[in-house]
Amino acid sequence: MIGFLWVLFDRISDLVQGWLGRLSRKPWALHDHPNAVHVEPVRDWIRHDLDSLDCVCGPTVTWSDRETGEAFARPLVVHFSLDGRENNE
Ligand SMILES: [Zn+2]
Repeated sequence: MIGFLWVLFDRISDLVQGWLGRLSRKPWALHDHPNAVHVEPVRDWIRHDLDSLDCVCGPTVTWSDRETGEAFARPLVVHFSLDGRENNE
């Protein structure tokens, strides 16, 4: 079971790293929480709520793999930065 979770986490990590590689070079952090996996901009202007799916930044919540349609064990919550780093190339 733990092995399975690690595989899943690795897959989500790869997926997120792929997205983030396109987003910007500023640092983002991956937080593995029991109820969700959060992707948060590091040292952003606000503190993001990592305990719920309802952060002030209006995060994107993804429940399944976009390419395979396979459901995640936990939702993937991608927060938006207030400094707009995801818009920088
Ligand atoms: Zn947020």
